[in-house]
Amino acid sequence: KINNLTKLYKTEYELVKALNDMTLEFPQKGLVFIVGVSGSGKSTLMNMLSGVDTPTSGEVIVGEKSLFSENKKQLFGYRNSYVGLIFQDYNLIEDINVYDNIKLPLEFLGINDFSIIDEVIKKVDIEDIKYSKVTEISSGQMQRVAIARALVKDSAMILADEPTGNLDSKNTSIVMNLLKEISQDRLVIVITHDDDAAHEYGDRIIAIEDGTILDDTTKNELI
Ligand code: ADP
Ligand code: MG
Repeated sequence: KINNLTKLYKTEYELVKALNDMTLEFPQKGLVFIVGVSGSGKSTLMNMLSGVDTPTSGEVIVGEKSLFSENKKQLFGYRNSYVGLIFQDYNLIEDINVYDNIKLPLEFLGINDFSIIDEVIKKVDIEDIKYSKVTEISSGQMQRVAIARALVKDSAMILADEPTGNLDSKNTSIVMNLLKEISQDRLVIVITHDDDAAHEYGDRIIAIEDGTILDDTTKNELI
């Protein structure tokens, strides 16, 4: 849940209200799209939900707990294990191969059982490039590696910021279908400015403008 979330950015010349008193409740699972034009506050909202950045005022509540009242260690734990992040530019480590990129979150968490890696590799259909260098695969494959890396922690929530922003229509549909599939048993929140994709795949579409909610449409009732 987010309650009365406001984020102000102070720059040398101006004060930007990126989020303006926003209140929302998300379901436990399903595919929720956040749509809006560039500058509407989508990425700011994502950074608050992921605990990467702190709001100026208001709360992010996960379960019963208010995220930013947690101590640093708990917030770090939330970011590392509760949330899986996917970005437009993939954020893969180029010096290591596909398998090792997917293994990284487990290593950070101190998990020694790597058996889940092959499961997620199969799920996102990248068995053929398992040991390839990241620099030698296509952008569609890169995003599937990034999805596998987000999935390997088995986190309760996946946040994707413009995940298909650099992909052609074929790979956009592969990635959207994959996000749809993984939203069957967890919450997947996808930020996009692709309204058509949002309406094609989304269970719920939240439109934002100038840091406020413009429209909130549920297509499939979620729990
Ligand atoms: P979107 O992801 O929808 O394009 P953002 O959340 O990135 O929008 O930005 C919302 C508003 O906040 C924009 O006006 C943007 O210029 C401003 N903004 C975002 N990040 C910063 C920052 N670090 N410093 C100053 N202004 C920012
Ligand atoms: Mg953005």
